[in-house]
Amino acid sequence: MIEIQEIDFFAVIGDCPETLCPGCGQRTRAYVVNCESCGGLLGSEEASLNLCEGRRPPMHKTPMQEADNLIRLQQAGQALAGGQIEVEDFLAEVDEVLIIVESALDLYESDFMRRQISTMEPSAAQIYHRIATAAAEMEFGLRQLSHYRHGQPLSLIEAGLKRVEGALWKVDAAQDVALEMGRQC
Ligand SMILES: [Zn+2]
Repeated sequence: MIEIQEIDFFAVIGDCPETLCPGCGQRTRAYVVNCESCGGLLGSEEASLNLCEGRRPPMHKTPMQEADNLIRLQQAGQALAGGQIEVEDFLAEVDEVLIIVESALDLYESDFMRRQISTMEPSAAQIYHRIATAAAEMEFGLRQLSHYRHGQPLSLIEAGLKRVEGALWKVDAAQDVALEMGRQC
């Protein structure tokens, strides 16, 4: 079972804005306090979505086509359709992503996150809400996929995958808003 504290709310949903560390120049997730390569402070005491607070390096967007969880599910769906894997293997992949997304939703609803969000500017808090809503939609799509049983039409899998992908596009759109806010500081 995954510990909630170990989870990056943005990364689990598939996309996470990145930034370049001012110390070592490596890419690191935009919302962490310390660089993931060298451990140096990224420029603000607290990792936050208050994009105008403190001096943080600019964010870069993770391209939608690099969303790991979506790629993983699409590949499993294709392998199932092509007869390379069994239904149980496909469902195991779905379950793993489902656990991750549920953990992200648990984190969002935790006291820790509620406190974080309550200290943010309304526009930044709004981004969190949009992403949490998309995560809930993603969970719904994953539940659809997890109900797939041997012999059922593959169109059910396509429908579930479309829902997951649609939710990830919403995360993508929320990232655009965050980037725009960052530029306007
Ligand atoms: Zn660094």
